Amino acid sequence: MEAKSQPAYQKCTRCGYSIAPGANSIGRRPDQICRNCYNALELDLVKPAAEDRKKLQFFEAPDLVDPQLWLGGCFADISKPYLDLKGIRAILLVCSEGIERWKESIVYEKIPVEDNFQADLRGHFKKAIEFISGQIAKGNGVLVRCAAGVSRSATVVIAYIMQTKHWGVDRALKYVKEVRPFVEPNYKFMAQLRDFEAEVL
Ligand SMILES: [Zn+2]
Repeated sequence: MEAKSQPAYQKCTRCGYSIAPGANSIGRRPDQICRNCYNALELDLVKPAAEDRKKLQFFEAPDLVDPQLWLGGCFADISKPYLDLKGIRAILLVCSEGIERWKESIVYEKIPVEDNFQADLRGHFKKAIEFISGQIAKGNGVLVRCAAGVSRSATVVIAYIMQTKHWGVDRALKYVKEVRPFVEPNYKFMAQLRDFEAEVL
């Protein structure tokens, strides 16, 4: 029997919970913690008042994919103090349903696409990459988010990584998965990224 093929479960050093390989682990951290602990520790950084704790119960900390570039889902931006702490002053919404929560003080760009097999993200790559690059050049952190931070927003982030590092899609996907292991562009988006490859390599 080959035991080698068994996925290695690890334990969260903070809560002891089993970390399923890929599912809820956090990459590029010196400690080995689960995603629930990551969310709690990140939120603790801004010491939310007791009355805000309930409002912030769904907070999901975004992942720092590249310097000044964050990737997350729809609860990644619910704490303004957290965005301020991380220097996130621009948000790219890659969804039609996204709310611009902090219009007064955050720069928004929107790509209103659905996560389905008809959606064309390829046609929006240029605009998205220009927005991200432009904001980073101004010293602003950028959060790219959709609903889950798995398919749409991840596709845009992968396209940005491909363009700026002149990497193929496989290398860029692996790089993003190092910090957010459950990233999974739908297969049509993967095809659009492969099509984009010819432009960046
Ligand atoms: Zn934990």
